[in-house]
Amino acid sequence: MSPRRARRRDVSPPPLRSGVRPTIETHPDGDWEVRPVAGSSTAKTYRCPGCDQEISPSLAHLVAWRPGDEANRRHWHTPCWRARGRRGVKVQRSRNAPRYG
Ligand SMILES: [Zn+2]
Repeated sequence: MSPRRARRRDVSPPPLRSGVRPTIETHPDGDWEVRPVAGSSTAKTYRCPGCDQEISPSLAHLVAWRPGDEANRRHWHTPCWRARGRRGVKVQRSRNAPRYG
């Protein structure tokens, strides 16, 4: 039996155990780093960009930001973030509100 090899093996990332480490998600508008936030660790109320509702401090949610731009991270309701990925990206670039119907 050979001893355990000490060669570097950086192929597989370590398993996510704590949830602190952000994950990279690829969306139609690019990559986002996403990190889950436990409700108990937050003391502020944030506003979710997906539904424009407040996220209560006790609610578990997630934070998303552009890689390298963590200063501009946004707090999202988890289902809102998931819905964002499914429905496509609603980028509010136009000044006029979209018409429905
Ligand atoms: Zn929301």
